[in-house]
Amino acid sequence: MADAATENTPQSLASPSAPPVGVRFAMSSHPGRIRSDNQDACAAAPGRGIFVVCDGMGGAAAGEIASKLAADAFLETASLSTTEPVPLEDAATVTSTADCPKIQLERAVAAANRAVYQRSERYRALRGMGTTLVAALIHSSGAGCSAWTANVGDSRCYLLRDKLLRQLTSDHSVVEEQIRAGILSREQAEFSPVRNVITRAVGTQSEVAADIREHPLRSGDILLLASDGLTRELHDEDIASILVLSSSLDAGSKALVQAANAHGGRDNITVLLIARD
Ligand code: CA
Repeated sequence: MADAATENTPQSLASPSAPPVGVRFAMSSHPGRIRSDNQDACAAAPGRGIFVVCDGMGGAAAGEIASKLAADAFLETASLSTTEPVPLEDAATVTSTADCPKIQLERAVAAANRAVYQRSERYRALRGMGTTLVAALIHSSGAGCSAWTANVGDSRCYLLRDKLLRQLTSDHSVVEEQIRAGILSREQAEFSPVRNVITRAVGTQSEVAADIREHPLRSGDILLLASDGLTRELHDEDIASILVLSSSLDAGSKALVQAANAHGGRDNITVLLIARD
């Protein structure tokens, strides 16, 4: 896949002094073919190398509010420099500068959780709303370039390398727990009546823990952040071949949404692609 420049800047909170990160990105979000609303949200601060996708849940407009609140709060906090004071309870975990992206993501997930939880406490109609969250922070240092991922729920991050797609995040879902316990196979999980049920969400409780991991990146790697509206409709091999055949990130993100719709489009579909130069 060859791209000339950053193809999409729907939302950016990057400050002008942000360090340049050699990444390009494209994102697409679509309600799908069944639902009239779109409870997914996606946002990016490309100058900071920060990208996030959220998939909201809750009655009426609550899901839409939850995902938007979480994505905005996440991006705003993740864009803050880690040289700004770290809350006391986190200070002990800073052992070297290499820990900075982890702290940045922990603070940003906590801010997203607080934003959603506090709003739902304030308004009865929004009680119980929540959202998934998957994010990538591209971090360059003397040792090279890494993608730090954070996730809560079943929105996923994948890596396309050498034409192969690999899931980098683990879902927080009932079926994922059943797969790990040997009760279900991956194939059976696709048809499970509880395949929608997640075991962790942003904003449903006063605190939440995200899984945060570092993945070294190579030149030519492509990261995909996606809501389950994409990953329930398409197999990994289909996603990989669409990306490999796409002429640009923008074309790839649109082709993935189109393919998910062609397979049924039963849920909102959100795709965010990030490429390292
Ligand atoms: Ca969904």
